[in-house]
Amino acid sequence: MYDVIVAGGGPVGSSAARFCAEKGLKTLLIEEHSEFGRPVQCAGLLSSNAFSECRVSDRSVLNTVSGAKVVSGLGSELSFDAKKTKAYVVDRGALDREMAINAANSGAEIKLKTSVTGFRSSEVITTGVCGKESFKCRMVIAADGPRSVFTGILKLPRPPVILSGIQAEIPMDISSDLVELHPYASPDFFGWVIPAKKGFARVGLCGEKDVYERFRRFFGQFDSSCLHLVTGTIPLGVMPKTYAANVLFCGDAGGFAKPTSGGGVYTGIRTALHASEVALKCCNSNRFDTSMTSEYEKRWKADIGRELKTGMALYNIRKRISDTQIDNLLRCMDTPEVLDDIIKYGDMDRPQKIVRKMILKPQIVKNLGKFAAAELKNLIF
Ligand SMILES: Cc1cc2nc3c(=O)[nH]c(=O)nc-3n(C[C@H](O)[C@H](O)[C@H](O)COP(=O)(O)OP(=O)(O)OC[C@H]3O[C@@H](n4cnc5c(N)ncnc54)[C@H](O)[C@@H]3O)c2cc1C
Repeated sequence: MYDVIVAGGGPVGSSAARFCAEKGLKTLLIEEHSEFGRPVQCAGLLSSNAFSECRVSDRSVLNTVSGAKVVSGLGSELSFDAKKTKAYVVDRGALDREMAINAANSGAEIKLKTSVTGFRSSEVITTGVCGKESFKCRMVIAADGPRSVFTGILKLPRPPVILSGIQAEIPMDISSDLVELHPYASPDFFGWVIPAKKGFARVGLCGEKDVYERFRRFFGQFDSSCLHLVTGTIPLGVMPKTYAANVLFCGDAGGFAKPTSGGGVYTGIRTALHASEVALKCCNSNRFDTSMTSEYEKRWKADIGRELKTGMALYNIRKRISDTQIDNLLRCMDTPEVLDDIIKYGDMDRPQKIVRKMILKPQIVKNLGKFAAAELKNLIF
């Protein structure tokens, strides 16, 4: 009998398995693929905080980033550069593999090429390399990504928004340490150009619809060949209930990616940490009913709940603003005072601080629209 079975060996599942094993819980990590980190479904841009949450060496780091350039597509650009490392560009495959090794070194058992297909009264059912099997456990951490089987099994509503993403790695010399953001490339999200290892860049975008067509147009600007294509989905908007008796949902399985960027590694690992703490409490008290597992939701909400809510409001506002409005916004934000604030208070993982600063600036409220600014003020103050 395992104390905890973790379904899914992405960064969130490996972290959850590591945290549980480090707490002395007998832990099994189950991954459907034959190796960790494949296929890559990520742009590999991690804030400094996200990278440190991964608790890995710097072996997967390909480059560092110190700021961003936002390109409106209608003429204006806004650049801010902190002149120190704000984010890392990583080889996601290598990162995932190191995180899984760390889980194993902490004592978690690992089962590869095995898919979780069912769950009933403390028993996880799998099919895979050993045929059909079942494993007894006291708790499950569902970290099986955007198409979690547990939402279906437990008949729980899924996260409300599903973004699709496409990215190409191309040969391109970028001398700058800035990530480029191109909102016009995808009218309900944005496109990006990330300086990867020397001589290469990652060009991609996410959106709710017409994603392939948008990508074809955006990619066309670069007149280059794709050397590595990444596709994937990102659920946005946390599922209405992230726990059940014996089960906790973490990372993309629960819709925890940041709605401002689609990045899910930082928030996902934070949920893995809270899930491991609640799993320990449940195991110590031998109680796994919802009055115990609901503590998980209280914990993640206290940590990242308001940030995710603000992120979702920003995401909905972004969908309503036009390219012209963005062009005007970038123009009016290009002042030393605003740029200083962005460098000082901007945080890729926790947007509340910088939004609090920006919505007090009359020129920004004017361009964003009174309605949107009032919506944000209500959430923040
Ligand atoms: C195009 C694109 C770009 C992105 N860029 C970034 C970025 O730059 N930075 C960032 O932070 N995030 C980014 N993301 C999001 C990020 O990749 C995810 O948020 C993150 O991987 C979530 O981690 P996870 O462990 O929850 O899920 P996943 O990484 O999806 O891992 C889930 C794991 O579960 C396994 N699995 C699934 N079903 C089963 C099953 N039934 N049984 C057993 N195993 C199963 C899968 O094989 C997988 O290994 C991007 C996503 C996309 C699509």
